[in-house]
Amino acid sequence: MADKKNLRTPIVCVMGHVDHGKTTLLDKIRGTAIVSGEAGAITQHIGATEVPIDVIINKLGDPRLRDRFIVPGLLFIDTPGHHAFTTLRSRGGALADLAIVVVDINEGFKPQTYESLQILKRFKTPFVVVANKIDRINGWVSQKDLPFAATFKKQSEDVQSRLETKLYEVIGELYNQGFAAERYDRVTNFQKTLGVVPVSAVTGEGIPDVLMVLLGLAQKFLEVNLQYSAEGPGVGTVLEVKEEKGLGATLDIILYDGTLKKGDTVVIGSLGEPIQTKVRALLKPRELSEIRYESKFKQVNKVTAAAGVKISAPGLEGALAGSPIRVATEETLDEIVAQVKSEIDEVRIDTGSVGIMIKADTLGSLEALVHEFQKDEVPIRKAEVGDISHRDAIEASTVEDPLYSVIIGFNVKVHPDARDFLQESTVKVFTSDVIYRLVEDYQKYVKEQQE
Ligand code: GDP
Ligand code: MG
Repeated sequence: MADKKNLRTPIVCVMGHVDHGKTTLLDKIRGTAIVSGEAGAITQHIGATEVPIDVIINKLGDPRLRDRFIVPGLLFIDTPGHHAFTTLRSRGGALADLAIVVVDINEGFKPQTYESLQILKRFKTPFVVVANKIDRINGWVSQKDLPFAATFKKQSEDVQSRLETKLYEVIGELYNQGFAAERYDRVTNFQKTLGVVPVSAVTGEGIPDVLMVLLGLAQKFLEVNLQYSAEGPGVGTVLEVKEEKGLGATLDIILYDGTLKKGDTVVIGSLGEPIQTKVRALLKPRELSEIRYESKFKQVNKVTAAAGVKISAPGLEGALAGSPIRVATEETLDEIVAQVKSEIDEVRIDTGSVGIMIKADTLGSLEALVHEFQKDEVPIRKAEVGDISHRDAIEASTVEDPLYSVIIGFNVKVHPDARDFLQESTVKVFTSDVIYRLVEDYQKYVKEQQE
């Protein structure tokens, strides 16, 4: 039997186009895990749900599989979409170990499907494609929660061939995007070929198969990445900075290495100097059975990776979503502060030479934008996390070349005084919450200027 001691739970993100079923799929996976509670309950984290391996094996219905898998389970990030994926960054890469790309089998590929694939390709993240909403295929007779093979067998020949036709349209699109893909049960080598699982997130058909493919991917691709030291200092990424009643600013973080304890000194990335503070409380959601308590949270003394947890501590207001959080000791403090600072600086570009200005809501989205514009060889003068301020507006207005007197804003607000200023100026501002749209809009603008 394989050694299970030193592998942490892989972190899984769900991505795909709006309305293709990401939230429904996550709910189903959570529901699945709660229902099959006998084999060890799921654990609710802050911002994530952990499904232990025993629950999955139970779902797969073959106890012999137990010894084949050495990961302790799967940790699903609760916020679907590639925004969460890019926010959850770690040094030099994505924090999510695995991803699910959901595509509506009846609608096929849409802009955010393409964008998800591009992001995953760039980060080299192993993923599985879910061809969702098979219950909507004309004539489909639903078989609640059955694995795909079992439900497929029960469909008429007509329905089977309708599914195959639609499935191969999805596979063809994947091929056009540079991925060799196949129905997952026809894949012989997951290193070379992407698995596509036909699923209904509503009826649960095919869900066990998705979980099994994810476990298989974790096993094949991640063993080295998942090795960690449970006793080591905690390392994580800030998912969100959140104001909580009675607590002030708190951080929702995903811890991906080591242990974090109440009272630990932590260093967190911010716009200025890294924040140094002491953890006042570590909070987890209360179980449903504990609703008699007034607070939504309960305190724990420590958490070990991988885990989602809320941190209450003084001075968290300026923390950046997407930035690192690291536990420090008296001896390591200086070194850790320098490390966190350099991790933030890696993303920020402030050369003072020619180029456009980019503002984004998180470090991860900023990194993705910078990458896309650099790919197009667009010079960038400044790239920063934060809303578009009056100072940004003034700065952009001093640039003479209209091609670079430009502010790109991703998921950020324009401050009222900046807005007033910009209305009177010739600065061109593009804002959107879709990365490729910003790139396209800017390209169009450049073309117009050159004509
Ligand atoms: P998201 O935007 O990707 O999170 O999509 P949602 O999970 O919110 O789903 C969008 C709509 O599609 C909702 O009305 C869901 O009930 C529906 N939906 C999602 N998955 C399925 C499915 O497998 N079958 C059917 N019939 N409807 C689905
Ligand atoms: Mg949703």
